[in-house]
Amino acid sequence: MVALDGPSGTGKTTVARKLAGRLSARYLDTGAMYRVVTLAVLRSGIDLADEHAVGNFAHEVDFALGTDPESPDVRLGGEDVAAEIRGPEVTKAVSPVSAVAQVREVLVARQRRMIADAVARDGGIVVEGRDIGTTVAPDAPLKVYLTASAEVRAARRNNQDAAAGRESSVESARESVERRDRIDSTRAASPLRAAGDSVQVDTSELSLDQVLVAVTELARSRGLLGDCPAEPVAAGAGVLS
Ligand code: C5P
Repeated sequence: MVALDGPSGTGKTTVARKLAGRLSARYLDTGAMYRVVTLAVLRSGIDLADEHAVGNFAHEVDFALGTDPESPDVRLGGEDVAAEIRGPEVTKAVSPVSAVAQVREVLVARQRRMIADAVARDGGIVVEGRDIGTTVAPDAPLKVYLTASAEVRAARRNNQDAAAGRESSVESARESVERRDRIDSTRAASPLRAAGDSVQVDTSELSLDQVLVAVTELARSRGLLGDCPAEPVAAGAGVLS
């Protein structure tokens, strides 16, 4: 199992999915879980400031999350919501919802069950999030914490939004990532922070392939790669998103 944590725009999703493919492992996007619960809260009309109501409601949300790194689908009551959970309304509300302790209890319990299943049955799992190495899976054999400068992270988010046809600018993307980081790292319940035994990788100046090489070598050094051969990688290739 690999825990991949870090703030938004550091390349976690791209790296986690590719790494899971290389390891022939499953992939779990815990951010998608917080996003789908947030979407359900928004649709229900519950006041976001009412932590008690939000926390109780989290128990009832009927969602499903795929763990195939090629197509990790997200469903709310059977409806495909993969695009909607990345939209601006959910992105704005997700950090406050994620700060509710009861929401975290429900989702962390579910994440642990999914991890245990994948480790027992599917050849392991790469899990991305904010608190995987510190709270969800403190015994993970490999913990990686990705960082990048605020400028680079905002530029990546802006590119993603533009590619998905969402209205965006570098300034608004920067405001959004900094606001989420602030809420995520200052909340009482399992805040965003690097586990003491994680390996930190600054992705600001690295291409996707360079990050992948670094993380794959870490996985190899922890015995997680089996006899998968080392892959020659063209320097500078690939784009982190
Ligand atoms: O990774 P992503 O940007 O989709 O995560 C959305 C939000 O979900 C984060 O900003 C954070 O508030 C929350 N989150 C969390 N704990 C996780 C994963 C995500 O609190 N393990």
